Amino acid sequence: MAIPDEDVARVRSATDIVALISEHAALKKQGTRWVGLCPFHQEKTPSFSVNAEMGVFHCFGCQRSGDAITFVRDMDHVDFVEAVQRLADRAGVTITEDPSATAERHQRAPLFDAVEKAVDFYHERLLSAPDAGRARDYLRSRGYDGETVRTFRLGWAPDDWDALAKHLHVAPKVLEESGLGFVNRRSRQQDAFRARVIFPIFDPSGRAIALGGRVLPGAPAGDGGGPGPGPKYKNSQDGPIYSKRRTLYGLNWAKRDVIASGEVIVCEGYTDVIAFFQAGLPRAVATCGTALGEEHFRLLRNFARRVVLAYDADAAGEAGAGRVYEWERHHEVDVAVAALPAGADPADLARSDPGALRAAIADARPYLAFRVEQVLTSADLRSAEGRAKAAETAVAVVAEHPNELVRDQYIMQVADRCRLEPAAVRALAEREAPRAGTGPHTPASRPTDQRRPVRAPSHGGGGAGRAGSNGPGTLRPGLEALRLTLHRPELVADRLEAVLFSDDLQRAAFEVLAGADDLHEAVEAAERQDPRVAALLRRLAVEEPVADADDVAMTLVRQASRRALSAVEAQARLSPDTVDRIAPVIARVRRDLDELDEPEVGLVAADRLLAWLVGRDEANE
Ligand SMILES: [Zn+2]
Repeated sequence: MAIPDEDVARVRSATDIVALISEHAALKKQGTRWVGLCPFHQEKTPSFSVNAEMGVFHCFGCQRSGDAITFVRDMDHVDFVEAVQRLADRAGVTITEDPSATAERHQRAPLFDAVEKAVDFYHERLLSAPDAGRARDYLRSRGYDGETVRTFRLGWAPDDWDALAKHLHVAPKVLEESGLGFVNRRSRQQDAFRARVIFPIFDPSGRAIALGGRVLPGAPAGDGGGPGPGPKYKNSQDGPIYSKRRTLYGLNWAKRDVIASGEVIVCEGYTDVIAFFQAGLPRAVATCGTALGEEHFRLLRNFARRVVLAYDADAAGEAGAGRVYEWERHHEVDVAVAALPAGADPADLARSDPGALRAAIADARPYLAFRVEQVLTSADLRSAEGRAKAAETAVAVVAEHPNELVRDQYIMQVADRCRLEPAAVRALAEREAPRAGTGPHTPASRPTDQRRPVRAPSHGGGGAGRAGSNGPGTLRPGLEALRLTLHRPELVADRLEAVLFSDDLQRAAFEVLAGADDLHEAVEAAERQDPRVAALLRRLAVEEPVADADDVAMTLVRQASRRALSAVEAQARLSPDTVDRIAPVIARVRRDLDELDEPEVGLVAADRLLAWLVGRDEANE
């Protein structure tokens, strides 16, 4: 813990979560909750709920939940310490960091500082230095006006050994760890970037963390006397404040539109990102000299559910189907591929035909559809032999998809396009199918199941619809009991015990609640134990109980007693010698179960059953 717990608690209690979230989403009061459209996912009907009193939010659509700190972390994509710091500043709370965190900060602070100064230095050079004339001409020829140059803080690294190092005057360690330069063999500080247009790279919160540099077209390929211009593109090396695997160029500018649209465009380079912004699609990002990977998806999933790859067609095909499907499943995103005209790169298209670029994104197709189309358009569908071959290749591509229902739809399309009987193509697919089944994927409909909310939200109607007419059984009594424990503890005090919950998560949630003073303490304890329990508690905090506390308690007691009774009966059958001892217990429990429904004696029977259940549970431990 970098910040003392009591400071975190002070920040939390000083923060008005409704005011905080209202900066990103319109919230309306509804009963004791505030509801609105989720700021994290695209939706038309509100499934986002805030409980102001408990300081938590939950979305029934995307299942995101948390408190003010989680909200800032997810929204601004900053770490825990930074989120607490921001909220503290907002609320005017002073926090005391512990010494180890301060030391870490002190190590990184000069690096951020140096990169920020370097960005300024190179930017000023581009805007006004006489030796940047060719760079300015080049950028103008690419359609970059002053506004673009300033927005993206583009720069020019002069054709010099140590212009930046001289300007910065920092310790060798800072120069190296910031990726801005190094100490050469003559023990002199030397710049990492020379004679390059500079594209500064920022973290999602807008801090400069690295540089990318591009040589001007026609620049000499190295001057022989030392490290010349070298490769066309060059990036800062990874260091304490920059990791290529975790960084996406442009996300700091794109995140607003990415969140608003629920879609992010991933393209291949800095100039492509800028091209998309110029074409009116300010939601593009690019990897920084590395392939799109797992950690990029982990970052992206906080912002958007739809990822559009705007690579050139060959590169998109090579993204690796297995990995794409795994990312889709694991991060619950949809990956689509933009149909860019063959040979076109987004930067050229943005200038020559921005409408075509926008259309390519709007028409982006699911990854599998794109790959099947790739196969079919390159095949010769005029001859029977050509169609058979195309079908075989296409089916092999389809077979990589983990979902059987998805596979089948594509198989029918392939059959149609190749003028073959669907049955024949299916037979072909069945030979391929094991390939799909051997991976780590799950069968059939798992991906869609995972996305389905655990329980439909009860909008507006105060939850009346939830109670329905099907009796208490449809209420999920375990969840309702937890809601009561959270919101109306006085109604269920002494009437609920952990042993009543058959579901492990619900039972854990109850135990955590029973042992904590308030929700935050409970959530924190749950977080240490099992994050799923913490998520459940946050969700329940924005749901109001609608059922009668007596009904819920009765239902739970009845269900738990029946389960226990069957276990006891099974045990009696297995070891007949215990029957004498057990038979009276069985008889009494059956009688109590019958009495549960009777008006006068029901409550007493419930108490007896509860005592029996708790006693059994303790004996078993
Ligand atoms: Zn949501």
